[in-house]
Amino acid sequence: MGHIRPDADAIGSVTTVLQALHQLGKTASGWIGQPEAFAANLLSIPLADQITCATELPKADLYVVLDCGSLDRTGAFSSALSDTDTPIIMVDHHASNTGFGTWQLLDPTAESTTTILRAWLRDLGVELTTSIAHSIYAGLVTDTGSFRWGRPAMHELAGELVATGINTRCIAGALMDDVSIPGLRMVGQVLSAITVPEIDGHRVAILTATHDLIQGCAMNEVESLVDYVRGVGAADVGAVFKEYRPGWFAVSLRTTKDIDVSAIAARIGGGGHVRAAGYTTTGTVAEVHQELLAAVGAVLN
Ligand code: AMP
Ligand code: MN
Ligand code: MN
Repeated sequence: MGHIRPDADAIGSVTTVLQALHQLGKTASGWIGQPEAFAANLLSIPLADQITCATELPKADLYVVLDCGSLDRTGAFSSALSDTDTPIIMVDHHASNTGFGTWQLLDPTAESTTTILRAWLRDLGVELTTSIAHSIYAGLVTDTGSFRWGRPAMHELAGELVATGINTRCIAGALMDDVSIPGLRMVGQVLSAITVPEIDGHRVAILTATHDLIQGCAMNEVESLVDYVRGVGAADVGAVFKEYRPGWFAVSLRTTKDIDVSAIAARIGGGGHVRAAGYTTTGTVAEVHQELLAAVGAVLN
C-alpha cells in the first residue's frame, strides 16, 4: 500500500513491489486507503489498474507500506494497521518519517521510494524487467522534478532503467505533461489570482484552487499548480491550496530558499521533505491562508 491521494512515487512503489513479489512466486495485491479513485494519469504505470482503493484493511500475512512518512498517510487503513499483529515492512524516504513498522527501510537521502526499492530488488535477486523499470522510473522522474535535484547516483539509476527499453517520452507525457483545455483554463484562472502576503518580512506566494474552479479538472492538473510556485524567487515559501472538497484543503509547500518547509507543515499536522512538504486542513479560504501565515511566522522567526 502507498499513501492516500497517491503520486507517481506511491503508485510506482506499490507496482514495483507487486511485480517483484509476483516474480518471486508470492501472492500480492496493491491497496490505497481511500474510497475515491486516484488520479487517472497514474493508470499509465504498469499494474496500477490492479490497485484497489478501499476503506477496510485487507487481510494478509505481511503488509508493505510504501512512501508514507507516517502511518496516518495510509488513510483508512491507519488505525487497523497500528493495532495489527501482522508484520509490516516500511520503505520510505521522508525526512519527517516517524519510524513505524516491524522492519524499516528508510533512507531520507533517496530521491524516491522507488530508488530504495531498486536496491532491495537487487538483494532479492529480482530481475529488472522493462515493466518494473517503468514503475521505478515513474517515482524517480516525478520526485526529482524531472532530475532537477538529487544525488549523482540518480542519473546512474536512470541510465540503468532507460537501458531496459522504457519509453521515457511517453512516461513523462502521461505523468506530467498531459493537460485538457478545461485544465488549462483552470490553471490560468488560479495563476491570475496569485497573492503574495507577507508575515514579519517573509513573503508567501499563494495559489488557491477553490472547489468551484477545479470542477471537471483532472487531479494531476490541479497537482501541477505547485510547479508554478516552486520557483518564485521573490517569495520565501510557495503554497498551493487545493480545495478538493468544500472547506477541505490539501496544501503543498515548496521553497528554493534555505528554509525547512516540512517544519511549517508539521505545525499544521503535516510533514514531508525540507523543500517540499504538505498538510491538510479545513476552513474558509481566508482562515486557511491565515493559518499558514501564522505557521510561517512562528517557524521562520
Ligand atoms: P505534495 O505537495 O502533495 O506533493 O507533497 C509534498 C511532500 O509533502 C510529499 O513528500 C508528501 O509526502 C508530503 N505531504 C503532503 N501532504 C502531507 C500530509 N497531509 N501529511 C504528511 N506529509 C504530507
Ligand atoms: Mn509520495
Ligand atoms: Mn516519494
